[in-house]
Amino acid sequence: MGAAKHKVLMMVQAKKTTVSVKAAVKTRNTRGEELRAILEEAIIQGEYPPGARLEEQELAERYKMSRTPVRETLRLLASTGLVEMRARQGAVVATLPIPKLIEMFQVMAELEGLCARLAARRCLPQKLREIEEHHRACADGVGANDPEAFYAADRVFHDSIYEASGSQFLQESVRTLRNRVSPYRRYVTYQPGRMLESVREHELVVDAIRRGDGEEAHRAMRDHVNLLGDRFADFVSSLPFGMGHAETKLIAS
Ligand SMILES: [Zn+2]
Repeated sequence: MGAAKHKVLMMVQAKKTTVSVKAAVKTRNTRGEELRAILEEAIIQGEYPPGARLEEQELAERYKMSRTPVRETLRLLASTGLVEMRARQGAVVATLPIPKLIEMFQVMAELEGLCARLAARRCLPQKLREIEEHHRACADGVGANDPEAFYAADRVFHDSIYEASGSQFLQESVRTLRNRVSPYRRYVTYQPGRMLESVREHELVVDAIRRGDGEEAHRAMRDHVNLLGDRFADFVSSLPFGMGHAETKLIAS
């Protein structure tokens, strides 16, 4: 066989393999991706709190799937850091040691601050109206003393600022990190008085974006997201036992 012919044959074979792998991934992934989205949401919403076990068999029965795609989904979630694989327990929702949580909130605060800074520079009038609308929805949640409604509106409010940043990569980075800290962020949100304080802080962010003041938008958003001083102590004391505490002890010893 001539070298050229051989090369063509190799290329055809390689192409065939790629196509069949793609097809397999596609059919296999549909349910897996669905399950991934469901589990991610359940973890973020606190249905499975940090430390909760994610049993393969139970999930397979609940979502009417075989165990293989469930196992793959859990592995995938482990690769994003939302789930941990433990030797005896199997998959559990990741618990984060407190020093790591502090670091993550810090990075989160800077990334969210950057979103706000870029939004102040780039935000179009239509987007600003959306941001203002979600800000009002947060205030309504506080007015109705409805933490669930506030929490949902808060998420959308922050989302609208990520989008207004106009940076796709920044949006992806901040969303990935938010997913990881979300199970903990709820404890911040549910602290007494924290919702009202949040709405006031949002007001500062929205004002700065409206004025096109990038520096102020960055500062206001960073301070809103970061856990500083007393607020951090309140947050730590509000965590259920075992959610962060145990790991901190391990690190200290
Ligand atoms: Zn907020």
